[in-house]
Amino acid sequence: MKKGAGNPLRCMQCGSCTSACPVNTIREDFNPRRMVGSIARFNRLPDQDPWLCSTCSLCTDRCPQAVNPFSIIMALRAVVYENGGEAPAGILRMVEQVRETGLALPLTPESLERRRLLGLPEVGLSSEGLSEVRRILSEAGFK
Ligand code: SF4
Ligand code: SF4
Repeated sequence: MKKGAGNPLRCMQCGSCTSACPVNTIREDFNPRRMVGSIARFNRLPDQDPWLCSTCSLCTDRCPQAVNPFSIIMALRAVVYENGGEAPAGILRMVEQVRETGLALPLTPESLERRRLLGLPEVGLSSEGLSEVRRILSEAGFK
């Protein structure tokens, strides 16, 4: 909860989060209800991989108790990472991309051309903005 997650003690184990979860439909071992329950009922970090979450937030939309299981899974990622756990290579590449450019995804020549044709402004951060992004990444604990 210190990391901005919802309160797992509100969970009544109804399973609405899991029935909405698209990852659970293909990986039964990834189960947001059980993740929240592990914390709320047993005061234990779940043994499931929080990086499997697709970040769709459907679990939070469906939760009748306003537990916000999505936020709990994001906090779990931070806890795991801070305690020496590995983040997936794809996520670390994205962090590097954000550190270098301020953008989560690289702009391709095609997307730049589409933006030009649509008359959209150039994308990019000022040097002050980029410094701020790097400061936030550093304070968030990304090495
Ligand atoms: S945010 Fe994650 S846990 Fe929640 S429904 Fe989407 S994939 Fe499942
Ligand atoms: S939907 Fe909410 S109350 Fe129901 S099991 Fe998931 S987190 Fe708990």
